[in-house]
Amino acid sequence: MTVSLLPPLTYSLASIDGEPLTDGPRFIRTRGMTRWHRPRNGVRYANGRTIYGAWCGYGIGGSDRAGGFLSTDTIPSDEPVCATCDGRAVGAGQDNGPDGRQLLHTPRTLKPPKNCSGSRTALYAELAGGTVGRCLVCADAHPLRAMGGPYASRYAIVQHPPGFGLVMPCPFHAWRHPALKDGRLICTCGRPLDPTSGRPTS
Ligand SMILES: [Zn+2]
Ligand SMILES: [Zn+2]
Ligand SMILES: [Zn+2]
Repeated sequence: MTVSLLPPLTYSLASIDGEPLTDGPRFIRTRGMTRWHRPRNGVRYANGRTIYGAWCGYGIGGSDRAGGFLSTDTIPSDEPVCATCDGRAVGAGQDNGPDGRQLLHTPRTLKPPKNCSGSRTALYAELAGGTVGRCLVCADAHPLRAMGGPYASRYAIVQHPPGFGLVMPCPFHAWRHPALKDGRLICTCGRPLDPTSGRPTS
C-alpha cells in the first residue's frame, strides 16, 4: 500500500526541473539512517533522481536505479520509525493511526487564498467601458483603479476574493506568483496555470 503525497509547496522561486509525485512508499530512509521516515511530498527530477520530503524536514532520495535510498510499504522491524514523521503523517490523515490515539496535524495545502493573487495587479482583461476588468487568475470581473501614486500610476484590478474560475495551482507555488508570458498565464517559475471550471476540492 502506498500513501498519497501532498504538493511540494515551496517559497523558493528557483525553477524546478521535475514533476511532483502524487503517491509514494509508506516508509523511507537512506542506508546510513538509523530510523525510518515518512514522505510528505516527492519530486522526480529530470536527471532521474527522486527526492522525498519527510514530515520531519529531512530530504531523502537519490537515483532510482542506483538504489540511493530504501523504501517499504510494510511496517519495518529493523529500525524504529521517526516519531515526528509518524505523528504528522497520521495526524494529517495520510495513514491509519495507532489504536486509541487521536492525533492532529494541519499541513499547508492547496487551499485557495483569502485574496485572489490577481488582486491589485495588471493581470486582467479590460471589459467594454474600460472601468471593469476580468481577472485572469480567477475569471471574476471587478473594477479597475489607478494605483501606485501620481508618479508611477498604473491601472490594476481591485482586491477581491478568488472567483470560482480560479486557475489550477502550480504544485510548487500554488497561486502565489502568477504572471503573463506571451499572453498566457503562468507561474513565475514557468509552469502554465491552466484554467479550471471550478475550485479544487482538496
Ligand atoms: Zn522523520
Ligand atoms: Zn481574481
Ligand atoms: Zn510555480
